[in-house]
Amino acid sequence: MTTTDLPLIVITGASSGIGAATARAFSAAGYPLLLLARRLEPMLELGLPKAMCCAVDVLQADEFEKALRGAEATYGPADCLINNAGVMMNAPFLEGEPAQWDQMIDINIKGVLNGVRLVLQGMATRQCGTIVNIGSIAGVKTFGAHAVYCGTKFAVHAISETIREEVSSKNVRLITIAPGMVETDLVNHTSHDAARDGWWKYAEQIGGALKPESIADAILWSYRMPQSVCVREMIICPTRQEP
Ligand code: NDP
Repeated sequence: MTTTDLPLIVITGASSGIGAATARAFSAAGYPLLLLARRLEPMLELGLPKAMCCAVDVLQADEFEKALRGAEATYGPADCLINNAGVMMNAPFLEGEPAQWDQMIDINIKGVLNGVRLVLQGMATRQCGTIVNIGSIAGVKTFGAHAVYCGTKFAVHAISETIREEVSSKNVRLITIAPGMVETDLVNHTSHDAARDGWWKYAEQIGGALKPESIADAILWSYRMPQSVCVREMIICPTRQEP
């Protein structure tokens, strides 16, 4: 096992957007990292020191665990898991595709559950640890053409808060970060043209969505608060975003 001053941080969905920005922010602060996503190349291209990168689908719990235990053998137990992997495919409900509902429900909810299950027992035993789940403003209020996505993000908020209550006595923190509009590839996976184009049009109208670095800064800040301080939930939106 390699000794390092700072503990291991695990980030899912690190191949793009908020996850990649978060990897850069934690790396700049000196943390060793385990970066996970299905696409390996973009994570390697980040070129970060002390960063193990593994092509892992968060729905494959065995692969997820293998990568986690491998990184822990090198850097020691994960002190923070950032469950960031997620997908969004918007459409008015009657025009939605059930296969896309499945993807959102599986990745956004079950992917988070898989991650939490892998680290929580160890954190509870060590009486220390932090899980950051990336929710959404769409996990706090509803948006047209977002029925299933909103459902998955409301679930993330409910799951996080329930688990937080369960492990608070073990000194383990659950933090839910809820971004508003952030300029990433997320909405580009939406095949419904009007829903996708409407998102970008509104972003332009308000002077642009947030940069992923702003969310990364908030994640790093909330994690670096003393372990006795739990930022339970943070909603971060562009100032000019109205809903
Ligand atoms: P991106 O599309 O840029 O990033 C999504 C990341 O999730 C990618 O790295 C992708 O990597 C990964 N991912 C998707 N499915 C899986 C999977 N099955 N297993 C492992 N990794 C997976 O979008 P964002 O950065 O915007 O999204 C990050 C999080 O932020 C998501 O949870 C999203 O819901 C949330 N969010 C985003 C907002 C926004 O406006 N952008 C607003 C509110 C919340 P790969 O394809 O290589 O697997």
